[in-house]
Amino acid sequence: MSSACAAYLLSHNRAAHTEDPDVSLVSKDSATRPASSSGAPAVPGATDAPPPKPPAFTVKHASIEHSFAAAAQSMGVDAATTAILAHAFHGEVNFSRDLRAGDGVSAVFDASPDDGAAHEPLAVRIVRGGTTHDVFLHKDLQGKPFYYSKDGASTKPSFERYPLEFTRVSSAFSLHRLDPVVHRWQSHDGVDLAAPSGTPVHATARGVVRFIGQQTGYGKVIVIQNPPPYSTTFAHLSRFAKGLRRGSHVNRAQVIGYVGETGWATGPHLHYEVHVNNVPHDPLTVELPQKTPLRADELQQFKARAAALTALL
Ligand SMILES: [Zn+2]
Repeated sequence: MSSACAAYLLSHNRAAHTEDPDVSLVSKDSATRPASSSGAPAVPGATDAPPPKPPAFTVKHASIEHSFAAAAQSMGVDAATTAILAHAFHGEVNFSRDLRAGDGVSAVFDASPDDGAAHEPLAVRIVRGGTTHDVFLHKDLQGKPFYYSKDGASTKPSFERYPLEFTRVSSAFSLHRLDPVVHRWQSHDGVDLAAPSGTPVHATARGVVRFIGQQTGYGKVIVIQNPPPYSTTFAHLSRFAKGLRRGSHVNRAQVIGYVGETGWATGPHLHYEVHVNNVPHDPLTVELPQKTPLRADELQQFKARAAALTALL
């Protein structure tokens, strides 16, 4: 195996790099809490008899004091939906960098939801400074909620399978195999993709650089925090892209570095890892989020509804 990888022994050394900068945006409280609305008409609780002729929509506003999550939850958005919304806005608004105290959130709710538990806003607007960012709810046939921008573009991030043009997989992913020679449990937390030195390596999804530098075994390595729950690691690089540093935002397909053989590598290759909730998965088979475009008939309906809801925000 000419370009075998010696990242085998390092799987326990990386706990220090597993913080997710976005986790604080999302409440860990999974309970659905009733709305404490800010002046808008209250939504009837599950035990209350619904009014005979409820208004079609309820509009709520909150100002962002501490976090988007806190503001959303003060409007009665449950934690799971708040997480979905946080991801939906992730590409346009970086919650930790872009939001200031006093920025606002507006949301339109169905005033008579089918069941009191689900409390998904039909439309959400973030107002920061003079700019607004809107997303609109669309449920798929299984009733799973997704948020789209006004023109029907999915806010769901898309992920590329491969970060470079490679010639072959020189070492496969494997978890916890007993090495027959040293009699130790070892794992190979990624795949080795053989390619000539200097081949550009690109980000497979947008994200924030969480680590860039040198690590034993990995050599020159970049760790990118992608939209949760994903993160990606690129090791044995010969050099990094100019100007890239910890905290840099990268887009999908943006060149981040170049193939090399730094660290414990016996030939030029990229060691590539995909982690889901900080657990390494086989990058060649892991399920990756893909954009799910609306069908033409859905799209027409969606756009009309989005236009109507926009007028309420
Ligand atoms: Zn490797």
